[in-house]
Amino acid sequence: MFRSINSRLLLSYLTLITAILGIVTLSLVFFLVRNPRLAREAESNLLLAANALHRQQVATLQNADRATLENAAEQADTLLGVRVALLSPDGTVLVDSRADTEDELPAHEITSRPQGSAQIAEFSDSNEQTWIYTVRTLPKRFTLVIATLRPRAPLLSFFTDELFPPIWRAGLLALLLSLLLAFLMTRWITSPLQRVTAAARNLAKGQMRAIPLDGPSEIQSLAQTFNEMGNKVIASQQSQRDFVANVSHELRTPLTSIQGFAQAILDGTASSGAALKQAAQVVYDEAARMLRLVVDLLDLARLDAGSMPLDMQSIDVKGLLREVIEKTTPLANNAKIDLSLDSEGGIKITGDHDRLTQVFTNIFENAFKHTPAGGRVKILATTERGSAIVIVSDTGPGIPPEEVKRIFERFYQVDKSRKAGAGRGSGLGLSIAKQILKAHHATIHVESQPGAGSRFIIRLPLAQ
Ligand code: ADP
Repeated sequence: MFRSINSRLLLSYLTLITAILGIVTLSLVFFLVRNPRLAREAESNLLLAANALHRQQVATLQNADRATLENAAEQADTLLGVRVALLSPDGTVLVDSRADTEDELPAHEITSRPQGSAQIAEFSDSNEQTWIYTVRTLPKRFTLVIATLRPRAPLLSFFTDELFPPIWRAGLLALLLSLLLAFLMTRWITSPLQRVTAAARNLAKGQMRAIPLDGPSEIQSLAQTFNEMGNKVIASQQSQRDFVANVSHELRTPLTSIQGFAQAILDGTASSGAALKQAAQVVYDEAARMLRLVVDLLDLARLDAGSMPLDMQSIDVKGLLREVIEKTTPLANNAKIDLSLDSEGGIKITGDHDRLTQVFTNIFENAFKHTPAGGRVKILATTERGSAIVIVSDTGPGIPPEEVKRIFERFYQVDKSRKAGAGRGSGLGLSIAKQILKAHHATIHVESQPGAGSRFIIRLPLAQ
């Protein structure tokens, strides 16, 4: 019951309509009960009658007897519709046009009213009727009293005859309008929601269809977030598929070599001592390559899961770079590369010594691998706004702009065909380096132009 948007909307509209009509009716009833217009009319009639009678009675009173006065009062009552009374100076009612039908006038209360009080006063009789009256002083201190009942609105009949039909009709119209509005509003809200539901079902089946952005802004932002999420899910599914394909491919190449050379040993194709040695060497190299690949993959899996233990310690950047250079110098010398280090002393960072050695080894080796003989690799270490900066620049072929942002992707290699054989990398080095640096709250980025070399810039937070 009332679980759907439609029924909730309808219910709230109905509540609102009832509340508004109720408030309007109540205020109208309240206004009518007091009815200031009716009261004002009665008061001004009373005053008009009083003024007219005053002038007339002054003349009549001079020598009139009681019967004449009574007659005059009754005539005035019939003519003007007001109660007319005459009080003697001692407060006795001499004449009252309604003496037979109504309660006696409170003559004492009337005559004792202070001079200068409001023109119109009122009193209540024993029948709970309220009278309004005004007085005029006549010669010989007689008092003329003109009174009339305070007008009352015929409330119930007015309510049933006048007020209820339009309110009833307005309520019906509002109900029809709210049905229409609830229907339109529901359609406005639910149709984009239904599209989100359909898109979610499709996504579960592995298909991503972007949801068009329409309807209420809240649902538009839901649809937009869903579209972003869906694209990420599809991208991550694709990258998982690519990952499996890449791993299989990277493993298949060395395994095919190993199988081929083992076969050659077995079937006697490699029978001479030199051929046997070469076959064994290939088997050894390829097995080593596979081992490196498996170690890299394990590293990546642990970095992804955040489960790689980091042995954080204080590290002197210059010392660390020197160690890595020492380890990689033979490679630089073999490639006939001029290697230089320019580092400020005393730059301290906090990190895992072995993992950072792994990062810099990978970057240096890449620089040596990609710089032609006779080229230069410069390593610069400095500090800048709370960070240690290490810049590794080479005079190699550089990286095309469209590939620069991709070299940190797993298995990505700029030109896979450029390097073959045992020296060929797997394309995992830079993605591992980036993950290790991330775990150190550090960043790496590349500036490179084809033909103008590459600069790898690593920014690590200085030790506190
Ligand atoms: P690998 O070196 O095993 O191929 P990396 O992740 O270390 O994998 O590097 C990814 C790719 O980035 C390399 O294949 C190479 O194409 C490119 N690259 C890395 N360093 C350099 C460099 N200094 N100069 C030119 N290209 C580079």
